[in-house]
Amino acid sequence: MFANTLKSGKVYFDSILVNNTEAKKKAELIGQDKVINGTVGSLCSEGSLVTFDAVESLIPGLNPKQISAYTPMQGLPAFLEAVKGLCFQSYFPKKHVKSVAVTGGLGGIRQAIINYTEVGDLILTSDWHWGPYNTVAEDNLRKIALFRLFDGNRFNFESFAETVEQTARLQKKIFLLINTPAHNPTGFSLSPEDWDKIIDFLNNTDAQFVLFLDMAYIEFAPEEQKRVFQKLDLLKPHIFPIINYSISKGLAKYGFRVASLIGVHEDVSVVNELSDIIAISNRGNYGCVPSMGQYLTAALWENKSVLARYYKEKEHWKNVLKRRAEAFLGHIHPDLPVPYESGFFISVKSDNPKAHADALKEENIYLVPLKDGIRVAICSIDEEKLPAAADAVNRVMGAR
Ligand code: PLP
Repeated sequence: MFANTLKSGKVYFDSILVNNTEAKKKAELIGQDKVINGTVGSLCSEGSLVTFDAVESLIPGLNPKQISAYTPMQGLPAFLEAVKGLCFQSYFPKKHVKSVAVTGGLGGIRQAIINYTEVGDLILTSDWHWGPYNTVAEDNLRKIALFRLFDGNRFNFESFAETVEQTARLQKKIFLLINTPAHNPTGFSLSPEDWDKIIDFLNNTDAQFVLFLDMAYIEFAPEEQKRVFQKLDLLKPHIFPIINYSISKGLAKYGFRVASLIGVHEDVSVVNELSDIIAISNRGNYGCVPSMGQYLTAALWENKSVLARYYKEKEHWKNVLKRRAEAFLGHIHPDLPVPYESGFFISVKSDNPKAHADALKEENIYLVPLKDGIRVAICSIDEEKLPAAADAVNRVMGAR
């Protein structure tokens, strides 16, 4: 075999895809209505991907030559303006803000990690986190250090602070990777009070911080969550917040592979450096970010009547998700801790996730086993099936 020592003999395994394939096969055998498939992490309705008519209406008007051409390594200027507007809306920070294009939110995580940490560094994130964080760290010879996200269903500030302090004794620069609001896989969001504590703590901690805010799901959280952008003005200069803002979920353009890193700092050279160094990495990694999604995002931002239609449609789907969450949470047993606030996923803690997920399959319910729980993708389960899913989860976990 020819692979390097890091990769030699490794096999690609994705439990989401495996369970999704099993669910589809079962549905072919016994009928779609008898199977609950809560594996897929995209917004779906009646088994089909949800897209926004307003966004789609702009695609025929895109210029074929423009969307076929390369775009600048930093991103198309009109796109870079559009993402700032879409992300911040009426909650713009007062400090300098600069955005740079990346290939999907995942590309943003990778580009930020390789540019803002050293080989061998610890990257701090929560114990419940999106799996690809590990792959990015491993592929790039960094390590992940974990704090406990929850104390009951609340943010575990003590574990966060302790882990930061421990790391600060080893490293002078710390990369904090925080996924909020509407966290994957739990739907948890930091509250304004959690943010005040974090900001106060970081302001008074002697280290340099990159505060990387993975906001992949922000467009499906309550709008008040965007108030945190104004709180970023309170951060002292030794902290550099970078927002990872993707069109995958926000515009339902998962496969377009377009996102942006948005830096916020009082020193303009800090945000300019972000744009330069990410452009260098884009050039040496995947080349320019796909043009079509950048032109589409720019067209949406520039066409205010279409934008208004898009916001209306998005509101509708946010309400659908809210009703789905209520249908599930209304049936889940109070003994099972569920720290959900908003977004695509609910996780139920489990001491034996694999066994519980397998037992659910016996009842034709396909979910995703995690290290400490079971993920229910309410984004892809219709409302009427969710009470039965919750009842089954209660049953297999022995909570009645
Ligand atoms: N961050 C989290 C927590 C996610 O769940 C995802 C996608 O599932 C992403 C980032 C990146 O998404 P994309 O690369 O499609 O923008």
